[in-house]
Amino acid sequence: MLSFWEKEQFFGPQDVVIVGAGLVGLNAALNLKQQQPQAKILVLEKGLLPAGASSRNAGFACFGSPGELYEDLKTHNWPELEELLYQRYLGLRLLRETLGDQNIAYQASASLELFRTEEEEQYQAILAQLPSFNKRLAPLFEGQKLFVPLAKDALKKEGLQNFSAAFKNPLEGQIDTGKMMQSLVQKAEMAGISIRWGAELLDWEQSPKGLCLNLRFGPEQLALYSQQLLICNNGFGPRLLPKLVLKPARNQVILTNPIPNLALKRPCHAQAGYVYFRPIAGRILLGGGRHLDLAGETTDELGQTAIIQDFLADYLHNVLDQKVGISQSWSGILGVGPQKKPLLGQTEEGVYYALRLGGMGVALGSLLGQKAASLLTD
Ligand SMILES: Cc1cc2nc3c(=O)[nH]c(=O)nc-3n(C[C@H](O)[C@H](O)[C@H](O)COP(=O)(O)OP(=O)(O)OC[C@H]3O[C@@H](n4cnc5c(N)ncnc54)[C@H](O)[C@@H]3O)c2cc1C
Repeated sequence: MLSFWEKEQFFGPQDVVIVGAGLVGLNAALNLKQQQPQAKILVLEKGLLPAGASSRNAGFACFGSPGELYEDLKTHNWPELEELLYQRYLGLRLLRETLGDQNIAYQASASLELFRTEEEEQYQAILAQLPSFNKRLAPLFEGQKLFVPLAKDALKKEGLQNFSAAFKNPLEGQIDTGKMMQSLVQKAEMAGISIRWGAELLDWEQSPKGLCLNLRFGPEQLALYSQQLLICNNGFGPRLLPKLVLKPARNQVILTNPIPNLALKRPCHAQAGYVYFRPIAGRILLGGGRHLDLAGETTDELGQTAIIQDFLADYLHNVLDQKVGISQSWSGILGVGPQKKPLLGQTEEGVYYALRLGGMGVALGSLLGQKAASLLTD
């Protein structure tokens, strides 16, 4: 049982409780604290570390590729996609400003979207759209051509000889995910924001003293009162807000042993974004394969499956031509839906949410956190 003192000090009444110590939750907390320095703000995190996608992702500092645009135009209109791309671009700038390039080990490496010979038809269809994509997007990027086709010869130099063509996005890059989350947690704590690790929000109800939040902390369940609640738990959102159009999507990742003289320089994605890989500390981080078992991967349970692990190992050995051992594998949970725009809103008095970042939350997270803070203070 928690003592009287522990309950009073660590679970006393709050002005704002935020659920989730990921990119969105911590950025929202930081922005709220800037706007209301006297406010008591508590972040609840069910993991003992940030346990969501923010500390388990691949560290692509990306905001869009021609292949993704081509696919998304089937379900979104142009103004929606322009807005989304630009928000991601601004979000990346905000992440870099908030934490500093050195603290996130930002590298302006550019990125590649890759195609294999059997995808030639798809590549040609996208290539035909490239002038119109670049023309439409140029005003957002100071007149720059955002997407540049790359010839097969250039790919060979990067050890990508099994691909036949690529598009380069010169404005994209890569970060060190662990460093990013470590500095974000430090920044939040230094700003006076309390993070209660190992505390899970189960549900809540309205009460005369404000919102009464029901928490699990270790073996105990206890109540905590707060005037406002902001839910930033992304792919775990359906557990608390089942009516939102949001589903969990697990992503599995492998990391190789060190590779001497690794030629790979930048983040790459292939197969319409279902496969992605990048260099990190002389190794390759490779993830994806969710399309092989979409139903099975619609889960918020962490874990690895043979079908996807085998696919990733085969891709590493036979497509990337790296006959190297795998040192580690892990998974993380995305929040996805039919539309790529994140969900930001209010469900009832005092209860708000900022969720559904899809596969580009590194780009969107800081900005969505900022917007969520503004929603609470408006
Ligand atoms: C394997 C993988 C690779 C990715 N690669 C990239 C990439 O390269 N580039 C990119 O831009 N994006 C990438 N993403 C997506 C990106 O990481 C996410 O969109 C982003 O981190 C989401 O941030 P968030 O703060 O919304 O959620 P999260 O980081 O998931 O944070 C939510 C937090 O809420 C906590 N939580 C959940 N329920 C509760 C509860 N009831 N009570 C208390 N705490 C709770 C969770 O433990 C978690 O820490 C990737 C994701 C994955 C899984």
